[in-house]
Amino acid sequence: MLKAIYPGSFDPVTNGHLDIIERASKLVDTLVVAVLENPNKSSSLFTVDERKEHLRMVTKHLGNVEISSFKGLLVEFANEIDAKVVIRGLRAVTDFESEFQMALINRSLNTSVETFFISTSVEYLYLSSSMVKEVAMFGGNIVDMIPAEIKDFVLDKYKK
Ligand code: ADP
Repeated sequence: MLKAIYPGSFDPVTNGHLDIIERASKLVDTLVVAVLENPNKSSSLFTVDERKEHLRMVTKHLGNVEISSFKGLLVEFANEIDAKVVIRGLRAVTDFESEFQMALINRSLNTSVETFFISTSVEYLYLSSSMVKEVAMFGGNIVDMIPAEIKDFVLDKYKK
């Protein structure tokens, strides 16, 4: 039984995240999408509970995907839930350095956890949660960037 974690902020979940979730879920028995409870990120658009709810809504068609959240070290959370693999998405070379560093640190902390990288689908190359927030803030069209179910939640945040 291979269990994997896909960790991130998901503030908000984008079509790029969903693409990684759908592709990763085909490769493992259970995929736990885990929202990082970051105490320093007071500037989050959505609460951790809201983000988990959004993730539940957009992954309900995927039978082997579970939604969770964690505080502190990812590798400790991996131990707790007995996950052996961490999934990360890679967009451009710019993602590579920090992702590689994080993978090496995680491995030095827990050698039984491996990081698997999945490359983005080309249509999501430039897509990030911060890009969605910036476009929404200035009234741009975010329809192609995020799952339809959560579009109104994002737009509501920027209603004057
Ligand atoms: P972080 O908060 O670490 O920047 P996010 O929460 O936005 O990351 O995303 C979690 C993971 O999803 C990261 O591995 C990130 O590289 C990946 N990711 C984000 N957007 C995309 C995308 N458009 N295509 C592929 N992977 C992505």
